[in-house]
Amino acid sequence: MQNIVLFGPPGAGKGTQSKMLVEKRNLVHLSTGDLLRSEKEAGTELGLKAKILMDQGKLVPDEVVIGMIRNKLETNTNANGFIFDGFPRTEKQAEALDELLKELNTSISGMFALEVEDEELITRLLERGKDSGRADDQNREVIENRLKVYENETAILRSYYRKQEKFNSINGFGALEEVFNRLNSAIG
Ligand code: ADP
Repeated sequence: MQNIVLFGPPGAGKGTQSKMLVEKRNLVHLSTGDLLRSEKEAGTELGLKAKILMDQGKLVPDEVVIGMIRNKLETNTNANGFIFDGFPRTEKQAEALDELLKELNTSISGMFALEVEDEELITRLLERGKDSGRADDQNREVIENRLKVYENETAILRSYYRKQEKFNSINGFGALEEVFNRLNSAIG
């Protein structure tokens, strides 16, 4: 199995690059952001609780996202591998993911971090907010809060994966195809 963590701050292009990777490599795309938004749209209790946090740019509790990922891993046992997008976002999530994959006799093949400067991220997210309908993309303060949460809680995962010799840095600035080529050659 090829299990890839696509890492990076909000707006780095993880969702777009994941879709392109899925087409090329026949992997299952697991985005906790997408899963949470589906729950929200379905109006489930979980979705409604998550919405309050998401709209403020805060993280949803670890147990919630870990549970969603566990479900998806259990229902996709025949997959060639997975692309994890927006997960893990905390050290606790990273540890849980390692455990879950171990139960399936597999592991993370590599972590690929898309690097984009903050000013560019803010521009991209505000632009996306014009037609994504996402409340968290439409407010500069919420965007800045998401970037702060990334710095404070998520960026530390670079060293988590560096210790496992799985960390790869990818320049995320440039045309979609250009970034995709960089990513593909790094994945190998
Ligand atoms: P982005 O990376 O552009 O912020 P996502 O769709 O990945 O977009 O995430 C949107 C929101 O969903 C986050 O701000 C957070 O509230 C919630 N979320 C997504 N993934 C996680 C996660 N792994 N842990 C906690 N909260 C999450």
